[in-house]
Amino acid sequence: MDILNVVMQKIKLLIISLILLLNFNLVLAISNVQHSIDGNKVTLTYQGIPPFWINVRGETNIGQNGGYLWAKTYANSFSYDMSFAINPSKKFYYGVKDNQWSNTVSFTLSNTCSNNLSFDEDTQLCMEQQVLNKIQDIRTKLKVCGSCDNLSQPIVSLNGGDKASIYNVYLDNKKVRKFMPVFSIDDISVIDDPQNVLRFNLSYNQMVDGTNSIKFLIPAQGEYFQNRYDVLTPYQTTNIDYTIVKKQGIYGASYFFILKKDTIFDINNITAMFDSIAQSESGLAGLSNVEPYYVIAMPTLLGIAALGGEGNFYLGNQMMSINFGGEKYYNEYNKDVFKGEFAHEYVHSLQSKPETGLYGVNDGFFMEGMADAMAIYEGYRTWNEVGIYDEQIEPGCSQLTNPQVMHTLGRCIFKHLNQSGYLDENFFYRLFHLPGDSYNLYTCDINLQDTYCTSELNKLISYSANQNMTSFIREELLGNI
Ligand SMILES: [Zn+2]
Repeated sequence: MDILNVVMQKIKLLIISLILLLNFNLVLAISNVQHSIDGNKVTLTYQGIPPFWINVRGETNIGQNGGYLWAKTYANSFSYDMSFAINPSKKFYYGVKDNQWSNTVSFTLSNTCSNNLSFDEDTQLCMEQQVLNKIQDIRTKLKVCGSCDNLSQPIVSLNGGDKASIYNVYLDNKKVRKFMPVFSIDDISVIDDPQNVLRFNLSYNQMVDGTNSIKFLIPAQGEYFQNRYDVLTPYQTTNIDYTIVKKQGIYGASYFFILKKDTIFDINNITAMFDSIAQSESGLAGLSNVEPYYVIAMPTLLGIAALGGEGNFYLGNQMMSINFGGEKYYNEYNKDVFKGEFAHEYVHSLQSKPETGLYGVNDGFFMEGMADAMAIYEGYRTWNEVGIYDEQIEPGCSQLTNPQVMHTLGRCIFKHLNQSGYLDENFFYRLFHLPGDSYNLYTCDINLQDTYCTSELNKLISYSANQNMTSFIREELLGNI
């Protein structure tokens, strides 16, 4: 081999090496960058050498500081709910980097949802249709308004103060014109209310109806309300701006009306609690599946104006509203009540299933007592918490406090069943598998003196206890009268 051939051979080798090196580099570089959209959720997929950096932004300056999202991951796909991003055009740009940035790619959120969910414009969330309908109804009840200017602004003095502090309430950046501020002070006086929007003389706390804005006169910075949201500062404006966040659980979904800044409110743990209550109560009822739940959890400020009462209701279609009070109120006082309320309302959702036969029980008080009894049996609330002493109660029901409230009658019957040892898994199983008869309890009152009432009640609880309960009714419910 002459010298020229050797040189040519070396050059060939060098060229092949270079080509290999280039190819190798091409393999190393980020490739196959793609995205898919589901409502507000974007999923990016790509190939390359981890770790990967991801940058999503509203313009094309990929890799520079800022933007909506920076993430580092070792996985070849990355999903993110972009509903937090305030971006009216809904168009986003992104790049993925391993040792170099990919080309800049764009996606546009589609406003379409999978799995029969429906898109909600205000929150950009995908919701079950019945939840979306209910939330629209709640917005109507709260008189939510995007473009209503020049609302009247009443003036209210707190603790005799004179330093102005403006207080505005919003939901998803729209004005809330009906709400209930829960004061933690008694010294409240209305100074001026030109449009008569303050209903501050009602027995059930104070409703505002017709404006989202109040000028409070306060003596000093302080908490004049139930929530930490409402720390008023002299000569400043406090914007109470709620939004709705969704948390998907195993058996259902929860929708929380919270402030955007509420990062410490632990929705993950609450949703896990809902899942475990749903599982145990469906099991106690002997149902073959864990029934789904859809929770709308509202603070007192909005919930009572939107739903009435205490804000805790079974709303039909597996939906329930639970009042969490507000973040501070929840964390300091309301956790146990909140858990008990869910455990109670979820039983109502189970009771509504036609295959249980419970549609034949024609009066609400029995269903109420049963809902509490199951929540208590599973350890989610106590008799004390529902106004009945944990200790043994005397025979009869008319001696109980609040005898005019029909809830008390149902609770009393189940408390007697419990303390006489009849409540167990078999009892609840049979109660949830009634043969389709009717049980007309509408003539019952707290004295239980109506014989038609007690015979129907006897039929119902004898079936559930799988034994004749005549003597129980006579000795425990009627006190041998
Ligand atoms: Zn109830």
